[in-house]
Amino acid sequence: MNPKWNGQFSCFDLVARSGDKASEQSRSIVRVRDIEIGGNDFVVMAGPCAVESETQLMQTAEAVAEAGARILRGGAYKPRSSPYAFQGLGVEGLKILRKAREATGLAIVTEVMSEEDVDLIAEYADIMQVGTRSMENYALLEALGGCGRPVLLKRGMTATLEDLLQSAQVIALAGNLQIILCERGIRTFETATRNTLDIAAVPVLKTVSHLPVIVDPSHAAGVRCLVPVLSRAAVVVGADGLIVEVHPTPEKAMSDGNQSLTFGEFERMMDDLQPYLDLQQEKLRPQLLATGGTH
Ligand code: PEP
Ligand code: MN
Repeated sequence: MNPKWNGQFSCFDLVARSGDKASEQSRSIVRVRDIEIGGNDFVVMAGPCAVESETQLMQTAEAVAEAGARILRGGAYKPRSSPYAFQGLGVEGLKILRKAREATGLAIVTEVMSEEDVDLIAEYADIMQVGTRSMENYALLEALGGCGRPVLLKRGMTATLEDLLQSAQVIALAGNLQIILCERGIRTFETATRNTLDIAAVPVLKTVSHLPVIVDPSHAAGVRCLVPVLSRAAVVVGADGLIVEVHPTPEKAMSDGNQSLTFGEFERMMDDLQPYLDLQQEKLRPQLLATGGTH
C-alpha cells in the first residue's frame, strides 16, 4: 500500500486495511438475502429515484429484474435541495417497496434520513441507504449501528475519502460492520455534469478499506447519456456494483428524470456491460486459483 494512504486511513481500524498486510487481508462481503456484495459478483441496484406510485414501481421492478438487477432502489423519504420539491410518499412508499419485493424477489434499498425513522425503515428495507446530504449526520450513523441491516453509505458531495471512511468507522463503532461504500460524484468547478465522478475513489477505497465499493453513475452524471459509459468505467476500475436510476417515463419523473434510464436503455446497458464483466472475471481467475476459494 502507498505509505501515504496507510498513514492517512489506518486510524479507522474497523474499516481500514492495515499497511503491508493489506493485500493478504480478505475483503468483507455484505450479504443481503442470497446476494453477496463485495464477493465475485457485480451487483446492480436499480430503480426510480423516488417511489411515485404502485404502478410505477411494479413496472420498474419487473423491468430491472428481467434485465439482471438484483436489488431494487427507490426513495420513500427524499432529501431534496428545494423544500418545494416532492419529498416522497413516506410509509406508503415503503409499503409499495415491500409489495415489489414480494412480486419480484428483488431485495430493497431505500434511504433513511433521520435517526427517528431507522426502526420503521429497517422493517421494510434490506439495505439502509445514507444519502450524500446525510453522510455527516452522526446521530443517524450511530442509530444505524444497531439497525440489524447493511448500510449503503454514500459519499458526501463535498467529502474527502477520509471523511467517508470516518463516517463508516462511526457506523462500525456503533456495532454494524455491514457497510457498502458508494462513490456518487463530488462537487467541483465543472458544471457540464451534475457532479464529478471521482473514479479514482474506487481503487483507492478498495486499497485502503476492506469494505465493498459501488458506484452511482446517475447522480454523478446528472444526464442519462453518460450513465452507461460511467458504469463501464466502474466495472473496469474494480467496483463491486452499481446503483442506477431507471424510470418507466423519465420525462414525467417527479425527481431526477434527466438522469434516469428508460427500461430499454437499462437493458442495453446491462448487455453492453457483460464483456467488461467477463474481462474482470478473467483477471480475477488466477487470484481465485491461488487462494483456492471463491472469494
Ligand atoms: C438518491 O439516491 O436518489 C439520492 C438522493 O442520492 P444522493 O444522496 O447521492 O444525492
Ligand atoms: Mn435521485
